Amino acid sequence: MRCTVFTCNGRDIPLEYKPSLRAKRLSLRLSSKDASLILTIPFQTTQTQINSFLQHCTPWVHRQLKRVEPKILIGHGETLTLHGTPFQCVVDPLRRKPALCEMTKTLFLSPRYGKEDLYAVFKKVAVEKLMSYILKAASHVGKKVEKVTIRDPKSRWGSCSAGKTISLSWRLILAPPEVAYYVCAHEVAHLIYMNHSKEFWRVVGELCPAYRTHCTWLKINGPSLMRI
Ligand SMILES: [Zn+2]
Repeated sequence: MRCTVFTCNGRDIPLEYKPSLRAKRLSLRLSSKDASLILTIPFQTTQTQINSFLQHCTPWVHRQLKRVEPKILIGHGETLTLHGTPFQCVVDPLRRKPALCEMTKTLFLSPRYGKEDLYAVFKKVAVEKLMSYILKAASHVGKKVEKVTIRDPKSRWGSCSAGKTISLSWRLILAPPEVAYYVCAHEVAHLIYMNHSKEFWRVVGELCPAYRTHCTWLKINGPSLMRI
């Protein structure tokens, strides 16, 4: 079975080609299991026909994705998973700013808080968790990181500069820990190769053998992590 990607509004969705001797026409469906697309292709369909069919399907795919994408909700009674740990959200009328209690696994919210106050709480968790991943991966490859910054970029999870400064998105703590580790390993591998060559991916594979799965997870779920 051939696998490729379908790009919809700048987002890559895994697309699986499923040839069929019985099918009479091209059809596309979205798997509810992993939000990938499955294209059923009748015998003797040309690539041109496939391409034009897929182009025609773009608005439909866009609508379907919106339907299956979960929004991360933060409000009284909601549960928010941070770095693999579920935190119960509780509004505390006496608080002025949100705060995280690791002991009771509670995210206390003030009645009226600014987005920046909430992000500051998350950034603190991100600094602690992601820094330890960076140090772990860097020591594994025997490299030194000059500086790590935690930011909120709109479209990237991490970057590595020529000056060996690694920048990471705090939103990685909204992803499973193994996915966050993959991004850290990816950026640390850039300390050795400043490209995405075969050699680069070999280092990533050494640091994080299941990196392909984590890459796919980010492609599928990444946009929803931007929606809080
Ligand atoms: Zn990269």
